[in-house]
Amino acid sequence: MNDNMPDTRCPKCRRDCIFKWQEFVNGTRHIQQKCPVHGYLKYAPKVEPYISLANAYTEKNNIIQKRLFE
Ligand SMILES: [Zn+2]
Repeated sequence: MNDNMPDTRCPKCRRDCIFKWQEFVNGTRHIQQKCPVHGYLKYAPKVEPYISLANAYTEKNNIIQKRLFE
């Protein structure tokens, strides 16, 4: 495995992973890498393309949540 390659897929099933911001109690933010099948895999480094993917996921989710409360 080459750690320098952006790996956006699950090492077990090769599905595209979900990248999601998680805020810790101390206020720091981390990017969780989750597989739709295997769940939480690891924390992704705070670099591109992970940052953009996490932002896109958050935006999508906010729209869904807004719809639920309308
Ligand atoms: Zn998987």
